[in-house]
Amino acid sequence: MLLEVRNILRVRFLFLMVLLSVALLGAVMVSPQAPPQTQQPAPGTPTASTSPSSSPQGVVAGSVPSPFGAQAQPAGLNVVVLDPAHGGTDSGARGTGGIRESEIVLDFAIQVRHALEAQGFQVVQTRQGNDDPSFDGRSATANAQRGAVFVTLHVSSTGVPGSTRVYVNSDLPTVTDSSGLIPWDRAQAPFLDLSRKLGDLVQGFLAQHFKGSPDTAQAATVRQLRTTAAPAIAVEISSVTVDDRADLDRMAPGVADAIARGVAAFKPSYVVPSTRGALP
Ligand SMILES: [Zn+2]
Repeated sequence: MLLEVRNILRVRFLFLMVLLSVALLGAVMVSPQAPPQTQQPAPGTPTASTSPSSSPQGVVAGSVPSPFGAQAQPAGLNVVVLDPAHGGTDSGARGTGGIRESEIVLDFAIQVRHALEAQGFQVVQTRQGNDDPSFDGRSATANAQRGAVFVTLHVSSTGVPGSTRVYVNSDLPTVTDSSGLIPWDRAQAPFLDLSRKLGDLVQGFLAQHFKGSPDTAQAATVRQLRTTAAPAIAVEISSVTVDDRADLDRMAPGVADAIARGVAAFKPSYVVPSTRGALP
């Protein structure tokens, strides 16, 4: 079940708090590892103020971890942020047989994770247990990564049981504020083309496993995708209306395989857009 909620001002405040927290955490993590009496710039840090002769021992690129750990990763697609939707007091869609969307997607995430790791990707989950991070908290998890794609998992209350659908966010005009930055609630805009490509690939592999599924991804207004500054898709499995939960559980290996193969097929075409979104 996909939801749409608007809360822009709170989002911006939360994002500032996240940025501040990351910066503070980075400072704490880096300081014990810095060599005494030597302040070396982190990889990627502008070094205009440091001439080569002022650093007789030289600076070995990569020898000092970046305070922003994710930025130290090589360019390209390395990380998949996996979002089991709902959780906690939000059980998502519920079937008459007592099936809860929030429980199904968490179980599916385990198999999706293993399939992605087998393809060499690092997987970061937005939740590991029965809690309910906010939409913004989940996006912040994704937006803190570099070289990541985002996959949110849902189970619908509609659709042909045994089929699957992939959604990408519908068109979002790219806008910038007076300082030239992209507002948090439009963070997905620069990534929409990449999201469509990823969505079509995953949907194509899903269609091979599950008859009745479309061949290409569909566009929809998806709150969780809009604030995500990465190629981002929603995968929705039909449906909670089945009488026997085993009918859904049997779909997990196919869903996991299709997502992992889709992300692997997408990897060569992944390029981090020059315009980084999500900054307030
Ligand atoms: Zn849902």
